[in-house]
Amino acid sequence: MSNIPFPYIIRESTRARYLRFRVTLERGLEVVVPRGYDCRRIPQLLETNRDWVHHALSRVDAARVRQTNHAERSVPTQISFPSVGRTWHIELLATPSRSLSIAELSEDRLQIRGDISNISLCDVTLQRWLLQQAHEILTPLLCQLSRETGIPFAKMALRKQKTRWGSCSSRGTISLNIKLLFVEPDLLRYILIHELCHVRQMNHSPRFWKLVSVYYAPYKEAHRRLKAAWKKMPRWAA
Ligand SMILES: [Zn+2]
Repeated sequence: MSNIPFPYIIRESTRARYLRFRVTLERGLEVVVPRGYDCRRIPQLLETNRDWVHHALSRVDAARVRQTNHAERSVPTQISFPSVGRTWHIELLATPSRSLSIAELSEDRLQIRGDISNISLCDVTLQRWLLQQAHEILTPLLCQLSRETGIPFAKMALRKQKTRWGSCSSRGTISLNIKLLFVEPDLLRYILIHELCHVRQMNHSPRFWKLVSVYYAPYKEAHRRLKAAWKKMPRWAA
């Protein structure tokens, strides 16, 4: 065991007066040394403090496993749609049933009942609910913006996609990503306007952007924010 080297990062610190070992969840083992420290001494010091480092690293590893399991294998306690400013608290009700259902108890309370230990089934059930919500929320919004801009569309379709927020076909079908429910209201407005403008201009020409800017001027900023929004998707909806 004594020959197993620990991977570590050396960090020079202007404030450090002595060498110090530090173990964190984010960075693992760090060796903090004063400026100008002779780093050839580190392996020997690691060997001397082997037990301490070993224990600290196992503690951190265990915490990492716990964190990952928790994040990946649990039902959300809350669901928020920033797009329309709605939040639901999730209640779980375990029943002997092998299936799962969702009931809206009130404006801000959802209950998932059934075999709640089946996380994959919970995800699927929530995704089905999300699709239904997307239908109820996005349909009237698109119709309203269509009236506001005077741009008609033929049909609206919903999709669950990983890289696109929306699209518009040459026949005037506007497809929207159901994950739009998780973006800010103005970004949702921007995407709907963007796709509606494609009904008039099936390209990204200067004429297209001019039309977009009539209804949504800060579209360049919206692009940057939408890129960041992908990272904020809840695990169960991904
Ligand atoms: Zn486009």
